[in-house]
This record gives sequence, structure tokens and C-alpha cells, in this order.
Amino acid sequence: MAKNDAEPFSEKLRVPNALTFDDVLLRPMESRVEPDAADVSTRVSKHVELNIPILSAAMDTVTEAEMAIGMAREGGLGVLHRNMNEEQMVASIGRVKRADELVISRENVVTASPGQSISEVDEMMEREGVSGAPVVDDDDTVLGIISGTDIRPYLEVGESDDVREAMTDEVITASEDVGAREALELMYDHKIERVPIVSEGRGAGKLVGLVTMQGILQRRQHEDAVRDENDRLRVGAAVGPFEEERAVAADEADVDVVFIDCAHAHNLNVLDSARAISETVEADIVVGNVGTREAAEAAVDFADGLKVGIGPGSICTTRIVSGAGMPQITAVAEVADVASQHDVPVIADGGIRYSGDAIKAIAAGADAVMLGSYFAGTEEAPGRVVTMNGKKYKQYRGMGSVGAMQSGGGERYLKEETDEEFVPEGVEAATPFKGTLASELHQLVGGMQSGMGYVGAESIPEFKQRAEFIRVSAAGQTEGHPHDVVITDEAPNYSPNE
Ligand code: 5GP
Repeated sequence: MAKNDAEPFSEKLRVPNALTFDDVLLRPMESRVEPDAADVSTRVSKHVELNIPILSAAMDTVTEAEMAIGMAREGGLGVLHRNMNEEQMVASIGRVKRADELVISRENVVTASPGQSISEVDEMMEREGVSGAPVVDDDDTVLGIISGTDIRPYLEVGESDDVREAMTDEVITASEDVGAREALELMYDHKIERVPIVSEGRGAGKLVGLVTMQGILQRRQHEDAVRDENDRLRVGAAVGPFEEERAVAADEADVDVVFIDCAHAHNLNVLDSARAISETVEADIVVGNVGTREAAEAAVDFADGLKVGIGPGSICTTRIVSGAGMPQITAVAEVADVASQHDVPVIADGGIRYSGDAIKAIAAGADAVMLGSYFAGTEEAPGRVVTMNGKKYKQYRGMGSVGAMQSGGGERYLKEETDEEFVPEGVEAATPFKGTLASELHQLVGGMQSGMGYVGAESIPEFKQRAEFIRVSAAGQTEGHPHDVVITDEAPNYSPNE
């Protein structure tokens, strides 16, 4: 029963306005900025800078090691999903960190021992994503090198034979001060793909690192790659709201940013746990997801970044199932109001279909954007390509879908993983196969730079200050899409069905 002095219920119907991407456009402004010259570098968290303001979502159909490597090479950040066990997460972080190193340091070199069987080594190389390994004895002296070509069946090596039978024992090595050019010359001269780096002087001949042809060539191709202080690619990892142990494991594996991954981070138990995690780990902590000023205020004193999005995702049904949510442009702006006062970067997560949506999120106060569906159809996303009615697709599912929750994702939605019947907040879907991540990013970033050109801003911070929104009517929205024509050739950055 309502008390007499309580506010009348009808007051609740005096509701504030909340807007999303299609409700607004950037107001064009005087400009001398050529889009290609617009600088899109930014920060994802207090101590981690990116060369493009883009993250791939922590979803099991979007980001595993391959996607994270691709994102970092292009200047963004991949966030590993949490439907893998701790061991797989640590191995994935290691794969990203190893991907483009010139000298892979000893602890990261995958090695074989002379007494191992061929099948064991084959399996190990497959698991670790390497195509060859130095063979070392117990005190790390390099005895030989084993590679895929040494163990192919036509060489008549048996699966149970020892590695020492199959390895190449005339090893070309180099010392620690080897440069990229010198290492490459050694590889060309001797027709080899990897050069073990060995110690000199007393105790000479011990393995201290490895240089690979692939590593050198990759580095040359990716000048905008985002690297850590040891020159390795950067990577993020999602951990559940109460997974302190997992966060510590990620931190010890040298992850750059830990993402506290929860659908409702304004839950006070989640915030307590996130705070405790932030006090334990060295890596930056991004807390998400939030969608209001109040949630931002509750996290801003310890978070190194805030991630925004309550229900905007393409595969998400949170707003329909729970009746709760916050249209994304308003959510970003509310959080950014608070975060900017504390110098905490903001990431807009979910609901971005076009490059125009991404740059609108930045105009609303975000420093970077996170996308799932946009990348789920690329080669680098996990999962295979399927053909339906002659068209190619890849699977894309919400982390709150039944399938993903059964694989361990329930905690994000604060649901018991042992529930026999989940109450899902996401769907399982297919998304058109799109080709390479690099070409998707080219379109996404190019479109965002065009937006910066229309507003006349040379950098992301300047754009955030300068950009102004105008409100769009339903008629204005229709006018903005191609209309009154039949599209004959698909554009690489626009699809009416997206
Ligand atoms: P998209 O870019 O596809 O529109 O959105 C991706 C984002 O949706 C993810 O980064 C994550 O924040 C959110 N998300 C992923 N799976 C689910 C889900 O099953 N339910 C909800 N509510 N959100 C999800």
C-alpha cells in the first residue's frame, strides 16, 4: 500500500529522454581536416594506449588468440573471452605475446626434449601454434631443431620414435645482440625458418631465445601494431565478476588489461570483487558493463577504464527479457560525464552496426568502441564457415545465450552455472562471412575518420570536445539510408540487413 506522503506513482511517468545511435547525427562543421590525416590513436585504460580506437568483444564466437593477434597488429585490442579454462586463457595470452616478437624470450620458446616421442611433439606444436621447436637437454643446451618437415610421414619417421632420431642436429644459432637484418640473412643463406639464440662465454650454447622468419616478416607488415614495454603485442582478457584467481593468472601471464565482465557491474557485490581484484593485479582493470552516471560514480575511484552497454548488443535480449536497459548514446554520455572528471577512459560496448555508429559513440564521450557482430564474420573469429542457401556464414552467439551459458558464461549474467534451465539474455545466430579482419577494420576506421573530417577534428580528444549532435526524426532516418533505389552492387561498408 502506498503511503500518503510517498510520491505519486504517476510521477514516474515523467520520464527523461534517452537516445541511441539512430536518434542522432553529427552536425557538420567548418573543417580543414582531410579524413586520412585524422589521428585515431586513443587510450583504452589509464595506462594502455591504442593506435585505433577499436576492441573486439570478449565473446566465444569473436575473440580467441587469432583475433587478438589480428587486432593488436592493426593497432587495436582483442579481449579474450572467458568460456575457456584458465589454462587455455594463459596459453592464449602467451600466443598473442609470442606472435610478433623479434627475439622470443626463453620462457616463451616452445622446446622439445630429445627423448620425447614424435607424436607428443607434433601434438605439442599444434597446441602451441608453432611449426618448429629447438631441442634442448636438461641443462638447456641446444642439441638440434625439430620442425614440421622433419616429422612428416614421408620421411619414414615413426610416431613413437624419439625426437633425437628426426631432429636436424646441425643448428645455426646467433647471439643475443642479433638484429633483424642479420637474422634474416642467416635464414636465407641456410634456408631455415628459425634461429635459436644461445648464450656466449662461460656456459655457452644454452638456449636464451629464438628468432623466427615469420616473426620478422610480420613485424615489417604491421607498423601500427600496439606493443607493450617489452615490444610484444598487447592483449586483454575477460574475467568473471568473482574470478580473482583467474585475474591473477591472466596478470601473471602478462595480460595488459583485465576486463571485469558482467552484464550489470553496478551490482555492489560485483563492485566489491572488482575493487579487490584491482588491488591484487598489476594490469589495468576495466570495469563493465555500466550504463548510468551512478554506476560510473561507484567504480571510478578504482577502475582504470569503464565499459558501457546495458542491452545494446545485436545478439542481446536483456532489455526484452528483463525490461531494463539504457539506450547507448545516453548511457555513454552519462558515464563519460563522470569518467572524464577522473581521467578514466570509457569504452562503448555493443550495438555498433556501422562506422557512423562508432564515431557517434566517441562524440558522446567514449574513448574507444567494442564490437562483436562486426567482427564475428571474419576469418580471424573462432568457428568455421558454413554455407546456407549458397551464402557463407559464421556462427555468432550472445554470451548470455543458452549455448554460451552451457559452456560456462552464465556468471556474466549473475546466474548459477548449475541451473538446469537457464534464463537466457541472448540469442544464437549466424552472421555473413566477411573475409579478413584487416579489410573490415579498414572500412570501420576509414568511416570514423570521415566523421572526424566532417567535424573538423584532427584527433580523438579534439573530436570529443568539438562534435555536436542533432536530433533526427523518423523521416530523417529514412532519408539517411539509400532510398527509392534498388541497390545493384553491395558496398563494402553498408548492408541494409545489418
Ligand atoms: P554487438 O557488437 O554484437 O552489437 O555487441 C557485442 C556486445 O554485446 C558484447 O561486447 C557484450 O557486451 C554484449 N553481449 C554479448 N553477448 C550478450 C548476451 O548474450 N546478452 C547481452 N545482454 N549482451 C551480450
